[in-house]
Amino acid sequence: MINSISNSSCVFEARVFIFRVSAKIKRFNLTILQFLKYNGYSNNSLIIHKRRRMKAKFGSTIAQAEEARDKTPHDSFLSGLFDSQARFELAFPYPKQSEDDRVEGQKILDALDELLRKTVNANEIDKRGEISDEALEGFRRLGLTGVKIPKSHGGLGLSQVNYMRLAELLGSRDASIAALISAHNSIGVPTPLMMLGTEEQKNEFAPQLAAGDFSAFALTEDEAGCDLFRIRTYAVRIRDTDGSITGYRLYGKKRFTTNLTRDGKTPFARWIIYIARIVDDPSEIKPLDTKEDAESKKVFGAFIVDTRNEELTVLCRNYFTGIGAIYNGNSQLEGVYVPEGRRLRVRDTEGRPIKENDGITAALTALGIGRLTLPACSLGNMKKTLQIARHYAAQRITLGRPIGEHEQLGKFLCDMAANVYAAGALLHIAGTRTDEKQDIRLESAVCKVLITEWGHTALNDRILIRGGRGIETDDSLFAKGEPAFGDERDLRDSLLNRIGEGANTLMNVWMAREELDPYKIRGDAILQGSLWEKVKAVLWFIRQFLKPPSPVDWSDPMFENAGPLLHHMEFIRRRAKALTRNTVLASIFIREKLEVRQLVLARLAMNAAYLWAMAAVCARAASDAPRYENRAYELADYFCKERRKEIEPARSLFSQIFRDPNAGCVHRLAKRILKKEMLFLEEGIIKVVND
Ligand SMILES: Cc1cc2nc3c(=O)[nH]c(=O)nc-3n(C[C@H](O)[C@H](O)[C@H](O)COP(=O)(O)OP(=O)(O)OC[C@H]3O[C@@H](n4cnc5c(N)ncnc54)[C@H](O)[C@@H]3O)c2cc1C
Repeated sequence: MINSISNSSCVFEARVFIFRVSAKIKRFNLTILQFLKYNGYSNNSLIIHKRRRMKAKFGSTIAQAEEARDKTPHDSFLSGLFDSQARFELAFPYPKQSEDDRVEGQKILDALDELLRKTVNANEIDKRGEISDEALEGFRRLGLTGVKIPKSHGGLGLSQVNYMRLAELLGSRDASIAALISAHNSIGVPTPLMMLGTEEQKNEFAPQLAAGDFSAFALTEDEAGCDLFRIRTYAVRIRDTDGSITGYRLYGKKRFTTNLTRDGKTPFARWIIYIARIVDDPSEIKPLDTKEDAESKKVFGAFIVDTRNEELTVLCRNYFTGIGAIYNGNSQLEGVYVPEGRRLRVRDTEGRPIKENDGITAALTALGIGRLTLPACSLGNMKKTLQIARHYAAQRITLGRPIGEHEQLGKFLCDMAANVYAAGALLHIAGTRTDEKQDIRLESAVCKVLITEWGHTALNDRILIRGGRGIETDDSLFAKGEPAFGDERDLRDSLLNRIGEGANTLMNVWMAREELDPYKIRGDAILQGSLWEKVKAVLWFIRQFLKPPSPVDWSDPMFENAGPLLHHMEFIRRRAKALTRNTVLASIFIREKLEVRQLVLARLAMNAAYLWAMAAVCARAASDAPRYENRAYELADYFCKERRKEIEPARSLFSQIFRDPNAGCVHRLAKRILKKEMLFLEEGIIKVVND
């Protein structure tokens, strides 16, 4: 009886299964048919109507964003992943900073360390909303306004790797000071000037900046934050009698400009780069959100503005929940004159401007490198966080054990340590590539997104480890004679990191757009190309889908010492294939709607980012192994296993409980951290705990 019931239920289940599979096959066939129809094989009016609607909705902004893109093909591990390739040679052998460069950087770091200890009290800065004049003067004297300016122009001429070491130190000490130095050097005048400026411009501005002039970068407006194409600051061309352009008059308002003002009335920065829309006549200024405005061709420019100009007014200083002494404010331009010679242009190798509409491109080009500083500051803070959490978790006893030995808190420590290790690897590789003038557009974006997210998580975990003291203010702790580390202040300070210099929710979509560029080119060919282009593109997709993972010779000397981590690298190699195959499927099934399917794009981008971070951390561990032995492998192994859990999450509760690959590691690694065997992770910052 029982048998017959179970037999009939088996038959029933089998039928249901067959029914489901056939329904899936039908749906699959339908989608393929739709795909073919959609791509010009049918005149299905419904589909064409849908396509037009999509274009009308997003077309204009996306088209402008497309125009502003740097269209140079990417030369990166990340873009390679979408072509079934794991280009380990871009991480291995792990780059070493030359001894000369390290020593040169160390001299500045030592002097800065001393200055910060003497003049910077983060608690006071937070409460008063002011950086002391003594500290500001000290930074100028040390040459911190010319960190990126070459010695030939009077600056310190630090390499990117040294600049990021400096940012780590600043980030560990005080967020407002980190913002001051970073906004000036990374996105203010020095970086765009050195990347895009002509010799005359460099000769004019670099010495003044290096001598102590602070600068700023003004892009954001009331209506233009993440969407830069809503910028309403205008630069009206001024022409000579012969028609040649002699300069511009700038009109408009900017918001959230860091280093704009200290007192809310007068400018703090001496020079500011303003991004504005260029027009010939004020009558061309159209009200925002009108059809006319959406359809008008927008031309943007980047202008170096002298803040002593009387037509520039500081409207207010802005205050935030953290970074109490950031000198951030809003300004208004009412006909500020800027000569043509102060416009920053994107030029070809012979020095000729590439295109008239280059303002956003200039901003994004400079940001490509500039946005490495924020994650470097974040890393400094993560190191401090690890130090404080480790110290407290070893001292504080509950249920007869240091709290760090309880598994959940132990995991917080392991995550912090592994992420500090990985963040260091990602930044070091990106910094070295910057110094070698290689393409880092995607690498810097990955640094920004991953490290600021890890930094934020680490601060939350630090507060949980510190318990009630974690949210108690420094003054309250000092009043009882207890040590205070600014836990709650650091968390408040860190909130900007995920928003500024490209909000993280925007950056991962941008990364996917760049990584999927070859797919978009072929997709466009299928939609708009000739029959031959369509055929070629379809063949490309088929080839891409069938492409095997690129072979890697694991016996290559560059993989020396990577032995214990080879299984993770093999995972990366195979995963590149899966990433490519799934991107092909997404292109086929989601088609051009993919550009607005942010969750899909973010998933693809984050998968690639994790694989790159795993490769970077393996390279670092292989290089560190002779010095730190098993500790380097343990950190890298833990990190890779955590990322693999995110890439391939366990489906069943059983797997989550019994197959957690890091289950055995947490206890061991946490103990090592508590026993101070991982102190090398805390190097490069000012020590805050009394061990
Ligand atoms: C302390 C501080 C300092 C700053 N310094 C400067 C500076 O020196 N110069 C300067 O020009 N600007 C500066 N900014 C501005 C900063 O860059 C912007 O805040 C940021 O670009 C976001 O713009 P928004 O605040 O207008 O947000 P909105 O554009 O209103 O967006 C709100 C949120 O929505 C999300 N979002 C919006 N659009 C999308 C999308 N398409 N896809 C996914 N997510 C999206 C983002 O997460 C964003 O945080 C600063 C801001 C702060 C808070």
